[in-house]
Amino acid sequence: MTALETLTATEAAQAVPVDPARPLLIVDVDEVLARFMEGFGTFVGRHGYEMRIDRFALFQNIYKVGAEGCVDMPTGKALFDDFFRDGADDLQPVEGAAAALERLSADMTVLILTNAPDHGRSARMGWLRTHGLHYPMIVNSGLKGPIVRDLAARTSGKVGFIDDLLPNLESVAADAPDVVRFQMIADERLRPYAPTDPARHVWADDWATMEPAIRAKLLA
Ligand SMILES: [Mg+2]
Repeated sequence: MTALETLTATEAAQAVPVDPARPLLIVDVDEVLARFMEGFGTFVGRHGYEMRIDRFALFQNIYKVGAEGCVDMPTGKALFDDFFRDGADDLQPVEGAAAALERLSADMTVLILTNAPDHGRSARMGWLRTHGLHYPMIVNSGLKGPIVRDLAARTSGKVGFIDDLLPNLESVAADAPDVVRFQMIADERLRPYAPTDPARHVWADDWATMEPAIRAKLLA
């Protein structure tokens, strides 16, 4: 296989190995496999900033240490870009994720679908391998509905999709309505502020709950 991580998302959706007869599980990284907010907070802390989580946002939760107002957009973006290139060591895995995926992968194809900036691809791939997540990774940008629809078309089995962000879950519901959606937000501080819709997208706090929910929906 050519290095999947060098292909566009659309090319990768065709090139990635998918068992046409088995269920398919498509898994996001940040706040599902990786404790993104926590890691980003550690990273900005080493650069003179602090994370104060009091809303569902990214840059609006970052402050110069002791400052009253949050950082401006360019400062937040620069920290974000640096984090994706240099911050992999600050990123901790979500408890139980690797073990759960390893067990699930005996019964279904597992793919990683992440929205990451281009310059962060190799660091992200390295991070996944370091933490025992040896699954093909597709790097996407924008809403995930279109690529999930393309991936789902490659199997006759049931398809599941896990993400933390409601817009991605809604995008998949619109473009690939047969795909079962699951939502997880690993960061306990962020969770109370997050938009959710558990009647439409199965909610799980952690992998101990997520794994049986996936089995029930995809293997029943
Ligand atoms: Mg995410």
